[in-house]
Amino acid sequence: MDKIKMTTPLVEMDGDEMTRILWKMIKDELLCPFVDLKTEYYDLGLEYRNETDDQVTFDSANATKKYGVAVKCATITPNAARMEEYDLKQMWKSPNGTIRAILDGTVFRTPITVKGIEPCVKNWKKPITIARHAYGDVYKASEMKIPGAGKCELVYTAEDGTVTRELIHDFTGAGVIQGQHNLNGSIESFARSCFNYALDTRQDLWFATKDTISKKYDHTFKDIFQEIYDKEYDERFKAAGIEYFYTLIDDAVARIMKAEGGFIWACKNYDGDVMSDMVSSAFGSLAMMTSVLVSPEGYYEYEAAHGTVQRHYYKHLKGEETSTNSVATIFAWTGALRKRGELDKLPELSAFADKLEEACLSTIESGKMTKDLALITTLKDVTVLNSEGFIKAIREKLETLL
Ligand code: NAD
Repeated sequence: MDKIKMTTPLVEMDGDEMTRILWKMIKDELLCPFVDLKTEYYDLGLEYRNETDDQVTFDSANATKKYGVAVKCATITPNAARMEEYDLKQMWKSPNGTIRAILDGTVFRTPITVKGIEPCVKNWKKPITIARHAYGDVYKASEMKIPGAGKCELVYTAEDGTVTRELIHDFTGAGVIQGQHNLNGSIESFARSCFNYALDTRQDLWFATKDTISKKYDHTFKDIFQEIYDKEYDERFKAAGIEYFYTLIDDAVARIMKAEGGFIWACKNYDGDVMSDMVSSAFGSLAMMTSVLVSPEGYYEYEAAHGTVQRHYYKHLKGEETSTNSVATIFAWTGALRKRGELDKLPELSAFADKLEEACLSTIESGKMTKDLALITTLKDVTVLNSEGFIKAIREKLETLL
């Protein structure tokens, strides 16, 4: 069989620990035998990030701007323990944070649904994708403890010196205070990323804030989304047969619990932080969740939502068997290959991505899975496979599908 050809390279960002081991297995067993894989390789493993003073992370993000599509392996974000473990020159920043700052994107997280791993919410039949605005609000707030009686105000001094004041509270005793901000530009980018992703995946887009209470702050989010939608997206949404739906956050939460799924839920920063963990845990497993960073200019970076699975890696180093789930990492590759196929008009490449996903799902549905899934499945008589055995089982299925 001839291998499927690619015309433009994918930006390949390698990573750390157990996911780095899986990364190679996936390429060797599931990709390279079938696709004439073209990638521009960047090693974001912590050792090489340290060696290059993190330059490799910046280079990989800039390459994503050049080519448009990247696939990323999970990476270590260093902390004090990692400083010692890897003898680091500096506590390098989170690569995801660096890449996101360069691409100015929004992260979309989607559960991978499969028969036998049932969501706790029984009417959820299709995935719910969470889009979290990754700038500002409480994450960039200034806070103070107020020790006793006194007046707190918001003070804005314009460049020309004009001062505007707004009383926050006249304290009669001790309390706390917080100042938050956001930027119209960032909200606009967030909105465009969400609208583009909805069109791309042909799913309805929901957005919710507390604009009835927060008449200026949250209302600005609502207004910016609506203006951009009306001006730039209304016709395209209608042509695609999808809807943009705005509601109050409490109404959204209530509706989500009764919904079937199959839509994107755009959330402000804090709401997205909280709701994405609720949605992912209700859908089953972190190992079955994909993540894609979409920039307002239309650059895409695909990855698994989980980390480097450190505990399994230490077992692996000791020569012990591991049963690490590779599905989300495989779906990062299929997402990226499918997107490359669409952009380069290579339908065989996109079809290969579909078949590889189908092979993953039908392997699990046939009762062959890793331990994390065996613990939560409703299927009877399952076979628990090790990391390599699971990937080999997927390959067997894939070969029957191709
Ligand atoms: P983790 O996601 O690696 O693991 C969290 C828990 O989920 C563990 O109990 C693990 O056993 C389980 N788990 C996760 N993925 C699994 C899989 N594929 N198969 C089976 N079980 C799985 O997160 P962590 O332990 O908090 O972090 C480990 C490292 O990963 C840290 O250094 C952190 O900085 C990094 N991290 C990276 C990313 C990223 O690159 N996107 C995200 C989160 C954490």
